[in-house]
Amino acid sequence: MELWYTEEHSPNVRFSIKVNKHIYSAQSEYQRIDVMEAEEFGRFFTLDSLMMLTEKDEFIYHEMITHVPMAVNPNIKNVLVIGGGDGGTVRELTRYKQIENIELVEIDKLVVDVCKEYFKFTASCLKDKRVNIYYEDGLKYIRNKNNEYDLIIVDSTDPFGPGEGLFTKEFYGCCYRALNENGILVNQHESPYYKIYSDSLQSAHARLKAFFPITMLYQAHIPTYPSGYWLFGFSSKGLNPIKDFDAKRWNNLLIETKYYNTNLHVGCFQLPTYVNKLLENSYE
Ligand code: SAM
Repeated sequence: MELWYTEEHSPNVRFSIKVNKHIYSAQSEYQRIDVMEAEEFGRFFTLDSLMMLTEKDEFIYHEMITHVPMAVNPNIKNVLVIGGGDGGTVRELTRYKQIENIELVEIDKLVVDVCKEYFKFTASCLKDKRVNIYYEDGLKYIRNKNNEYDLIIVDSTDPFGPGEGLFTKEFYGCCYRALNENGILVNQHESPYYKIYSDSLQSAHARLKAFFPITMLYQAHIPTYPSGYWLFGFSSKGLNPIKDFDAKRWNNLLIETKYYNTNLHVGCFQLPTYVNKLLENSYE
């Protein structure tokens, strides 16, 4: 008998991975969590039957959500991560010596506990002394923050279920207020390819544009996410991800990466024409 994990990427498209073993399953207060093991992708976990990460391709998402903003402003010291309970984004952030404080706000403690148990490499830096974990809703957490952070990373689930509030106008307005004058907001920005995802992308872009003078998107190839093509948002109060980026400065840090590099940094902001059109026509 064969065991397969199948995820609906659109009402007419399904993506399947042959599974060797289903190792864990639980329902938390917020979502169902499953951990499986596969020949092709190693261990992976899903929330409400949506892929979160696999051992084989998580480096792409976590490097791109972290190193792009970190390479634009070398003075980032105070960082807020919303979501990201697997620890992958925190792991990449802790590679920067200049960072003094990382607040991780994850709504679901069970995600952190499961990742500490089953994804030791991804969760390995959650114990770094600069990291403080808060088990709270990111929207509630950020409501009373003012001029505090150099960088906010929104490493959330999709805009359904617990992640819904992290795609709202109120949330983006709170992020703007919580950032200082050189502040950068990076968020996982869904996929432009299938309509169910591109609708969310368009409304998120329109909402972000209403607050931030710089609102750009950049892309990465993530094999296990819908369509394999994913976008991240880069919004800031003034820093430009290409003009304010200094490749030499970042390369001198000697941070070893598997996906991110300084040529890709510039290239990833060059989007296909159909994506540019989606963004031009973005609406709430
Ligand atoms: N890379 C992933 C993706 O896009 O599929 C995201 C991974 S990370 C595990 C997403 C995390 O966001 C989940 O652990 C989830 O519990 C958390 N989350 C969802 N809504 C949240 C909220 N309102 N506040 C804080 N964390 C939230």
